Amino acid sequence: MKIWKKRWGSVLLVGGILAATLALGGCSGQDKDEQQENVQDMVLKSNVEQFQREDVAMGTLTTAVVYTSGVDLTSEIIEQISRVEDDYISWRVEGSDIDKMNNSAGNSDGASISDSTANYLQQILKLSEVSDGAFDPTIGKITRLWDIDGENPKVPGEAELEQLLADCGYEKVRLEGNQAYLEADTSVDLGAVGKGIGCDVAMDLLKANPEVKGAVISVGGSIVVYGEKPDGSDWQVAITNPDDDTDYLGVLTLSGENYVSTSGDYEKYFEENGVRYHHIMNPSTGYPADSGLVSVSILTKSGLLSDGLSTACFVLGMEKSLPVLEHYGAEAIFVDQNHKVYLTDGIRDRFELLQGDFQLGEIIRQES
Ligand code: ADP
Ligand code: MG
Repeated sequence: MKIWKKRWGSVLLVGGILAATLALGGCSGQDKDEQQENVQDMVLKSNVEQFQREDVAMGTLTTAVVYTSGVDLTSEIIEQISRVEDDYISWRVEGSDIDKMNNSAGNSDGASISDSTANYLQQILKLSEVSDGAFDPTIGKITRLWDIDGENPKVPGEAELEQLLADCGYEKVRLEGNQAYLEADTSVDLGAVGKGIGCDVAMDLLKANPEVKGAVISVGGSIVVYGEKPDGSDWQVAITNPDDDTDYLGVLTLSGENYVSTSGDYEKYFEENGVRYHHIMNPSTGYPADSGLVSVSILTKSGLLSDGLSTACFVLGMEKSLPVLEHYGAEAIFVDQNHKVYLTDGIRDRFELLQGDFQLGEIIRQES
């Protein structure tokens, strides 16, 4: 039997009015309508307006909640995210930088790419190196072979897998300034960092507008919070319960600018003969990563890195992730197959576990 599943995002948004209805529920004794009215009162008293928009961008549900002194930036944010997808990072869109690179594979002249894409690629290749290839921007061929995203997901044959794996490896991508070179038969797919890049793009726009007092933007499973809510309270970001993605495992309380991304084996998968085959690939085997984890959430100061690190750490497993997290000064929430939740030191006071059938493990201490 095959079970097939795909969802919009892995981190559920709790910001602005959503924060009032979800995060305050249960502890305030108020019903949702009362809480909503209270937030609206706060918005009115503070001379700050709330703008909210939900749309599809980067092939995923994107939500922007922005508090400003009157300017509505929400549609511009969503348009800008879509533009970056189309012009720079999508392998599906003809003429994007990544499409140009993929078409130039094996060509010694390489492809000329924009400053933005060159900057993303530089960070991605560094992450690939630091994670010892656990993050691999050339793994798209393998993902497509499994067709986990598509209509006919299947376990591929060994011979075919071996053959395609030979064309993968981040070392097959080279960047010299704005010139990118790919070895023959290699292709690049930035799907695992796209949503994080979307958060970075949104943040650039928010920072360029001094009218913005606070915002929470979610692009699928990647979230950025910025500034302050009208009542001065902290942002609350819910982390999905890996056992039930309509529910929360717990809530992260954050102030100021922070980026959170989650990678989990429950996001996109199919099951065959009782085995779950999910969408995060181990580049050294060509099979879905099997590191004992069911989800990893990363908190850091960049969208691209939070998204990329969640993928890399999911592949690496907890132990091997630690030096990578230290390198980037990032914090993590690991959930393993035994319902244990492990927090890094810097996140312990900011995460509240809400599910009784999960237990907190030892706190992970980091050097720096
Ligand atoms: P995540 O929840 O981890 O962000 P996404 O659905 O955003 O997952 O990412 C799916 C994309 O990740 C696909 O484009 C896939 O090719 C890519 N991917 C899968 N495994 C890896 C890996 N080990 N390194 C880099 N990209 C990967
Ligand atoms: Mg990712």
